[in-house]
Amino acid sequence: MSIFADNIKRLREVQKLEEISDTDMKLLLSPRQINKTELVLKGKKYPAWRIVYNYALGPGKGGIRFHPEVSEDEVQSLAFWMALKNSLADIPYGGAKGGIKFNPKEMDPKDLEKLSRLYIDYMYPYLGQDKDIPAPDVYTNSQIMAWMLDQYEKKVGHHEPGMITGKPLELGGLALRGDATAQGAYIISKEMIAEFLPAQPDIKIVVQGFGNAGLFMAEKLYNDGHKIIAVSDSQGGIYDAAGLNIKELIIWKNSGQSVVDYQDGRAISNAELLELETDILVLAALENQITKDNAKNIKAKYLIELANGPITYEADQILAANKRLVVPDILANSGGVIVSYFEWAQNRTGQILDEEYLKDLLGKKMKKSWDLVYSKYRQQENKISLRLAAYAIAVLRILAAEKWRGNN
Ligand code: GLU
Repeated sequence: MSIFADNIKRLREVQKLEEISDTDMKLLLSPRQINKTELVLKGKKYPAWRIVYNYALGPGKGGIRFHPEVSEDEVQSLAFWMALKNSLADIPYGGAKGGIKFNPKEMDPKDLEKLSRLYIDYMYPYLGQDKDIPAPDVYTNSQIMAWMLDQYEKKVGHHEPGMITGKPLELGGLALRGDATAQGAYIISKEMIAEFLPAQPDIKIVVQGFGNAGLFMAEKLYNDGHKIIAVSDSQGGIYDAAGLNIKELIIWKNSGQSVVDYQDGRAISNAELLELETDILVLAALENQITKDNAKNIKAKYLIELANGPITYEADQILAANKRLVVPDILANSGGVIVSYFEWAQNRTGQILDEEYLKDLLGKKMKKSWDLVYSKYRQQENKISLRLAAYAIAVLRILAAEKWRGNN
């Protein structure tokens, strides 16, 4: 199953909606730069990629993923989504993504550091604050960004903290970056609730994925008094119809345990969790979680994509036919890269940006994106999905930049 093939189908829908010419479509249908290699550590080979999808709005920007399922098809799709996400968020970047195919959970920290540095040894000529700026993604974190920055600076022979974001504070990172993806998604979820569930008390929520994005999102929604009835991690899920104590569950998770082994609630499979009776389903794990096989069983009325690409093209059609509303990834999870942009701007200018100001700016940018997408959806009398509305806005902005550059 190709993820990128799904993206092409979605682009074709945008083409129809916006009457985009075939010449313009050519600019959108393929990435600008694909770098790939096999990193060799202790005689073992690790396939690695960095793909820049588009440069029209600015340098490449997007995370680096360490995961056993990483593939070129996946990295290219993730780079494509970054291009759309950056455009929709109105930040001056093209889109990019990178990855190494391996399981970091099974590697000791010394080797993890070596592999992170090897990645930069190969990729550094293609990276830089004005070329392509990586960041954390699935199973990468601020320590890995620090090793990568250090290796890059050794290679180029000067300091350049703006070449990577999501760094530790001491290396030029921002405190706000930690839970920025969840904070952004939380702002979007509040807009969505105000629009669609304004008077409903006791909103029930299921969160798939209890990593950086899902954990903080669950915490924020729980603090607002919503009932989080189930959460899951890579080991499986835990369910309690009366609502889980998310504060305690976070302490449990942070002590290195899986949510499945938590004392309260009933352990359930990931498949069961997705199909639970709930108002909102937050998808914060990986791509391809809702497919044509389980889409018809989804009972949640509202789905929020915190992960990139959790719903396939075919599943989108089934969910829409069943009147399910999907808040798409490029809108819901853009908080991370927006705060990356603040970090990059601070690194480049040397100016100290006030944290309260930045928090406020993140909120304003998220709300603006929601308003744009939602009003386009309304203009089309709800006949298009929020995803198609978001894609159309993002694509038109990229094409406008291409036009100014004389590329179309
Ligand atoms: N990996 C995150 C994403 O998918 C953040 C990217 C960034 O900060 O550049 O949006």
